[in-house]
Amino acid sequence: MDRPESPKLLAPLAPWFERAKRPMPWRAEDLSARHPDPYAVLVSELMLQQTQVATVIPYFERWMARFPTPHALAQAEEQAVHKAWEGLGYYRRCRFLKAAATEITTKGWPTDLEGLQALPGLGPYTAAALGAIAFQWPTPALDGNAFRVLARLLLIEGDPKREAVNLRAWLAPALEAHGPSRMTQAIMELGATVCLPTPKCETCPLAASCSAHVKGRTADIPPVAKRGAVKEEDLWLLAVESEDAYLVHEPTHSGLLAGLWRWPVIKMQTNLDLAAETREPYSTPQVVSWKGWTQVYSHRKERISPIRVSLEKRFPAPKGMAWVSDLELNGLPLGRRDAKLRDLLKTEGQAATDLPFDLLRNLR
Ligand code: SF4
Repeated sequence: MDRPESPKLLAPLAPWFERAKRPMPWRAEDLSARHPDPYAVLVSELMLQQTQVATVIPYFERWMARFPTPHALAQAEEQAVHKAWEGLGYYRRCRFLKAAATEITTKGWPTDLEGLQALPGLGPYTAAALGAIAFQWPTPALDGNAFRVLARLLLIEGDPKREAVNLRAWLAPALEAHGPSRMTQAIMELGATVCLPTPKCETCPLAASCSAHVKGRTADIPPVAKRGAVKEEDLWLLAVESEDAYLVHEPTHSGLLAGLWRWPVIKMQTNLDLAAETREPYSTPQVVSWKGWTQVYSHRKERISPIRVSLEKRFPAPKGMAWVSDLELNGLPLGRRDAKLRDLLKTEGQAATDLPFDLLRNLR
């Protein structure tokens, strides 16, 4: 199918972007030049994967103050890196960032798209975005927002991702004509602020030439992807405390939660046996609870009931767990859910009794 030429169709985006762009600390002043700090673009792109701009900005600023160069990040302790990322979620990203910084420090910045894509944590989208924004390469970056914008502009039926190769080829001349960094960020900005799932076409600079808008098809293009079933579970999140120390899981070296310390959890079950001998010799614990919350992940929801269980005497930490002091606890990197319980410990909770679980048998 014939498509209008991208430099012409997308031309109104460049002046619109100059007017409408939101201030972001990683954005260069001069969008026609190579970015003065490609590392800042790399950090921002990794942080922006799965996380909103408003959340990222303070993290980015703290990060750049703490690890201002690839060298500084490569040299940093892993625990300090996790701590600086604490609360952003998807912790693999900070490990990738450190690994990429190490590679850049030893070998220098890659000189082409394939080289960027070979850096840890950079998929095709992030590598292309970095190429365009940091180095002014005409490398089209297509993420969910960009696919939505292009699908509507060009009236692409079905899943636009199937057209990825053709769309990159179509888009590249517009990057060449209007500047790779400017055009890439303009498409991102349009997708994030105007061409939303429910689009604001009345404010769109491309409305006159947008096929989906002209034909009244913005509601069904692109089709909404069906989401898999979300698993839900009810959990006790436990701060087990004894003799001024807390029991926590040590970090693993792989998996989604690698590098993070975790509280033990107990899956809520019914009819657990509370026979007296199961509590011996640990004595009856003092239990304090706080109001719970729902922790939402991409394919899972946890309904969290946070509690502190105080024991008179410590028991030997099970394998993979450790007792840490209050002070140490504050310096450990925790995921968002677990940091929330750490914050609650500084507040007063409700005394709770007769919670229906067998504490020591069900730790996981
Ligand atoms: S006119 Fe509407 S549907 Fe088309 S690109 Fe603009 S916001 Fe999106």
